[in-house]
Amino acid sequence: MKSSNEESLDLLVVARQQFDRALEWAGELKAGLVDYLKNPKRTIHVRFSIPLDDGSVRTFHGFRVLHNHARGPGKGGIRYHPDVTEHEVAALAAFMTWKTAIADVPFGGAKGGVVCNPKELSQAELRRITRRFVIELGDSIGPHTDIPAPDVYTDSQTMAWIYDTYDVLHPGQNNHAVVTGKPIELGGSLGRDEATGRGCLNATERLLAAGMVPGLDGIDGARVAIQGLGQVGAAAMRLCHGRGAKIVAVSDSRGGVADPTGLDPDAVLAHKHETGSVVGLPEVATITNDELLAVDCDILIPAALECVINGDNAASVKARLVVEAANGPTTPAADDVLRDNDVVVLPDIVANGGGVVVSYFEWVQNLEHQRWPLELVEERLKTKMEAAVDDMAAVYREILDGNDREDGSAPTLRDAALVVAIRRLSDVVLKRDIWM
Ligand code: NAD
Repeated sequence: MKSSNEESLDLLVVARQQFDRALEWAGELKAGLVDYLKNPKRTIHVRFSIPLDDGSVRTFHGFRVLHNHARGPGKGGIRYHPDVTEHEVAALAAFMTWKTAIADVPFGGAKGGVVCNPKELSQAELRRITRRFVIELGDSIGPHTDIPAPDVYTDSQTMAWIYDTYDVLHPGQNNHAVVTGKPIELGGSLGRDEATGRGCLNATERLLAAGMVPGLDGIDGARVAIQGLGQVGAAAMRLCHGRGAKIVAVSDSRGGVADPTGLDPDAVLAHKHETGSVVGLPEVATITNDELLAVDCDILIPAALECVINGDNAASVKARLVVEAANGPTTPAADDVLRDNDVVVLPDIVANGGGVVVSYFEWVQNLEHQRWPLELVEERLKTKMEAAVDDMAAVYREILDGNDREDGSAPTLRDAALVVAIRRLSDVVLKRDIWM
């Protein structure tokens, strides 16, 4: 897939370009390490059949990619989407490796996907798909090997089915830690539902307080536009609004709505709940998803799918700050345009790390048979997100200070975040001496 300016919109190509760019700022790495860090450790393909409700049988294709597990078991969501591909899942698994490293949680990176359209499947069909997928994955997933979580169009119910299936296959032991994002009753952590959105808020506030976005020093009074109102986008909307932001536009897969005087999040969510979309909310303008990205605002939060800000439309972004709640929403060509236009991008591997941080908390609670109060989860999440932003900012300043490029090109926060992650992972790999 390509944009009209011939830029690849293949997420794996994007992920590799991002990695290559960051390497230019990372300093010398031991020979052989680059290849090792860049490529997935393992990719599992499975095909399985389930009966549909009408009695027919359909075969589905699923994959699970383990990108790296040097720092701990693989960690990453499972996505159900008709367009999910091996490339997309491999890229998302790599993002998880960098994300867990920069958040400094003891996991590696993994991701899974099943090619299916949940909007056309019943709950019973989704349950059968999930159970069969887990059976096919067998012992490649487990509390100390590879731990799934929710992603696009999978939720806590999906995680409950994963846990139950794995538990039936492995009786007589505590299996809760095999999957995170579970319902609270099954060992889910308080605060997991809104962790990614809350982490975005924590990271954004830290970045703004550090003066890293010229002309914007806080969320209070900032005009915010959000693409995607799922688990992440809806939480980000509520939490930003709670901090005094004005929500000037929101969208979902069917389109968006905008009001420069500010939308009421409760009314937006109630309308979406009733009708399935934000489109049609009374007394506000209807906009397209492309128009949402170009809305006059201070903070733009892409919280849906990848590559939505690319070489074709990056110049139309009016925000001063893009907070990447989604994974991979901005392409390398767009990164260049945004940097040249003084638009700061808080990269996905930092911005949306709150989900995996609270997943880590859930995993710890499960292993220790503990239940942490919400206040403790939120306090520890904030500490982790702020540390990730501080680490990224410190390396950003370090590479900016040492920048003597003749063409005058400067690093981005994405480069800095990746350098933090690459250094952390390289350090572990070399200390483990994995070369035998
Ligand atoms: P979700 O399935 O709950 O919501 C996705 C939202 O995106 C929905 O509102 C949907 O209508 C909207 N959407 C779908 N296609 C769209 C399109 N073409 N244009 C505009 N909107 C569209 O998913 P989620 O869990 O909120 O995940 C959203 C993004 O955040 C994904 O990139 C995911 O990888 C990333 N992410 C999620 C988590 C998490 O904890 N759930 C953690 C880290 C990153």
